[in-house]
Amino acid sequence: MESRSVEVNGRSYRLPERPAVVVCVDGCEPDYIAQAVAAGHMPWMKDVLARGSAVIADCVMPSFTNPNNLSIVTGAPPAVHGISGNTLFDPASGTELMMNDPKWLRAPTILAALAGAGCQVAVVTAKDKLRRLLGHELRGICFSAEKADQTTRAEHGIDGALALVGLALPDVYSAALSEFVFAAGVRLVHTSRPQVMYLSTTDYVQHKHAPGSAEANAFYAMMDRYLAELERAGCVIAVTADHGMNAKTRLDASPNVIYLQDLLDQWLGHGRARVILPITDPYVVHHGALGSYATVYLPPDVDAAALASRLGARRGIETVLPRAAAAARFELPADRIGELVVVSEHSVVLGSSATKHDLSGLDAPLRSHGGLSEQQVPLIMNRRIENLDANRRWRNFDAFDWVLNHAG
Ligand SMILES: [Zn+2]
Repeated sequence: MESRSVEVNGRSYRLPERPAVVVCVDGCEPDYIAQAVAAGHMPWMKDVLARGSAVIADCVMPSFTNPNNLSIVTGAPPAVHGISGNTLFDPASGTELMMNDPKWLRAPTILAALAGAGCQVAVVTAKDKLRRLLGHELRGICFSAEKADQTTRAEHGIDGALALVGLALPDVYSAALSEFVFAAGVRLVHTSRPQVMYLSTTDYVQHKHAPGSAEANAFYAMMDRYLAELERAGCVIAVTADHGMNAKTRLDASPNVIYLQDLLDQWLGHGRARVILPITDPYVVHHGALGSYATVYLPPDVDAAALASRLGARRGIETVLPRAAAAARFELPADRIGELVVVSEHSVVLGSSATKHDLSGLDAPLRSHGGLSEQQVPLIMNRRIENLDANRRWRNFDAFDWVLNHAG
C-alpha cells in the first residue's frame, strides 16, 4: 500500500499513521540526559535508550535557539531557511533587527506542509518569540506558554489554552514555562488528538544549572513523566535539542568574556568594525547576551582575511572565518552574516563592548552556548531504526524524518 507523503525542502515525509511528536529541549547538552538517567531520574528515557534509537547529533551553527528551531521544523540548515540568528544586522540602516518575523523565513515548514495535506498539527512553544516563525502559514494550533492566557481560535487555532492545560500562567523566567509546554502537549493529545505535534521548551534551567545538579535532575524527571504519558497515549516521539550548554567561566566563576568590539576598536579605530551578537533577544537576563558566536561587519578598506588570522591567533578564539568560508562550513546564508564569523572556545564567550553588557542579572556562574562546543545534541526516538548508521553525521533537523519515515 502506497502511503501519502509531502515534499518539503527537497526531502520527503510520510503522513503519520500514529501521532508523531518532536520535542526540542532547549539547551539540552547530552550530559543532562546521561546524568539524569544514571541517577535514576528518567526511567522512561532509560528504557527508550535501550529499546529505541539514540545518537549524538549535530545542531546547526550558530548554536542558538531560533536558527535551530527553524532547522528542525524545515528539515534544512539556515542557508535554506534564512534564519541566521536570533537577531540580524541590517547594514543599510545600521540597525539590529529581531528575526522573529516570518518575513525573514525563506523556506516552508514541514508543519505547514503536513497541515496543508490534511494533518491536524499542533505547536506549543515556551517563549512567544518563536511562535510566529514556527506557525508560519500553518493551519492548526500554535501558541506559546508565555501567552497561553491570550489564545484565540482565529490567531492560535485554539481558544482558552490556559484553561485547557489547567496550570497557572508561568513566569517567563522559570522551569514552569517548559513544564507548561509538556503539560499542554499531553492535554492536546488527549483532547484534540493532533497527528503531528512540535513542542519547544526554554533553556532557563540549563543556563543556570549544570548536568547532574539537583535542579537539572528535577527538570529532566518532570520531562520524563510527560514523555512517558505521551507514549502511553500512542505517540511516536523524537527528542532533540536546539543546542548544548556549557560553563563559560574563569577559575573564580566570573564570566570568561572576550569583548570583541573593544578589541577591534583598539585595532582598527573606534566604531569602524561592527560586532553583532545574534544571541541577543529580549530575554537576556540569564546570559547577559553573551554566547560563543559573533559576526563582524567591516568597512571595505579592512582586509578581512588578514584580520581573521590575527583574531584567530588570540587565546580563547576557536575559529575565525571570512564570509564565504563561514557560509560554506556552517551552512549559513551569506547575505545575512558579516565579513567575519568568530567562534570562541568551550569556556569562552564573546561580548561587544564591556560597557554594553549588563551582567547584574546573572545570579549563577555563566552558562551559555553559540559555539562549536555546543553543537552536539541528543537525537532520540522511542522506536527502533533497524541498521541505524551510527557513523553518519545525524542532525537535529533529522527529527521529523525519524518520526515520520523511520518509526516503522
Ligand atoms: Zn535555545
